[in-house]
Amino acid sequence: MLDTMRRPLQDLRISVTDRCNFRCGYCMPKEIFNREYQFLARDQLLSFEEITRVARILVEKGVSKIRLTGGEPLLRAQLERLVEMLAFDDVDLTLTTNGSFLSRKAQVLADAGLTRVTVSLDSLDDDVFQAMNDVEFPVAGVLEGLEAASAAGLGPIKINAVVKRGVNDHTILEMARHFKNTSYILRFIEFMDVGHTNGWRLDDVVPAAEILATISAKLPCEPVEPNYTGEVARRYRFLDGTGEFGIISSVSQPFCGNCTRLRLSAEGVLYTCLFATDGSDIRAILREGASDEDLASFVDTIWKARTDRYSELRSSQTSGLDKVEMSYIGG
Ligand code: SF4
Repeated sequence: MLDTMRRPLQDLRISVTDRCNFRCGYCMPKEIFNREYQFLARDQLLSFEEITRVARILVEKGVSKIRLTGGEPLLRAQLERLVEMLAFDDVDLTLTTNGSFLSRKAQVLADAGLTRVTVSLDSLDDDVFQAMNDVEFPVAGVLEGLEAASAAGLGPIKINAVVKRGVNDHTILEMARHFKNTSYILRFIEFMDVGHTNGWRLDDVVPAAEILATISAKLPCEPVEPNYTGEVARRYRFLDGTGEFGIISSVSQPFCGNCTRLRLSAEGVLYTCLFATDGSDIRAILREGASDEDLASFVDTIWKARTDRYSELRSSQTSGLDKVEMSYIGG
């Protein structure tokens, strides 16, 4: 199934909760997501059965990769039950997490059918990391989670580090050195104007070219072909053969032309772009008793009409739009 730019539907990102135990400023700033913030109530959330039904229909439409996200997905109780329900044949089932619960959950998730994890870790410097997650969660806790995921066979494990100028850009090289010569694949992510609360400014973005220059000046590397069409990270390998890293450059080198991603929020709204301002409510028709055919044609209509390419159109006019929060639909 192709959209208006002939992009196939291949990736489904499912947010299972809008809650998180971290308050990373680029995603969920504490001053907004505070004690008064109205998170989704339990009955607003799609049940595991509802999520599985929508996912099954999307797999029949061509989805071959499902990513579980949040907020922090491991805050959703018994997530391993959902993993078991979503372990479809020939579907790559992955999860993006801040790693804080991974040391406890990695094995049970792997046993349930999860294939891989991506863990967010913005710095190895404890002061910097704790300043970024804004809840004083230590680096050691995430590294423990990484080891548990590795021991459970949830690999290749990717590590996502959002880079913000003047905050953690001085620790890029340390990160690259630390994960070089390991099985982990580190990806640096340009700070993005997701949502409408993270105070994004272009001046705070460290462009991919600068990240690459910082690394290659000390650790010579070369570009590598993508693993598949639509891969978000640009890959680079170290010339001394000790591994690779990636850079996700939504701001300076947009990749909308190959974007094959659809997102489902925890309350059952479908979004065709990370930077969308509105979505399509599939929960309503689900709970009105829609048939599989009804749901399938609902999805058809949405994807076939898709024109999104926000990152190619980004400007000072667009960054202030009332975009959906990343913590609500997952990264
Ligand atoms: S900006 Fe939207 S269309 Fe472009 S790559 Fe990101 S999610 Fe896809």
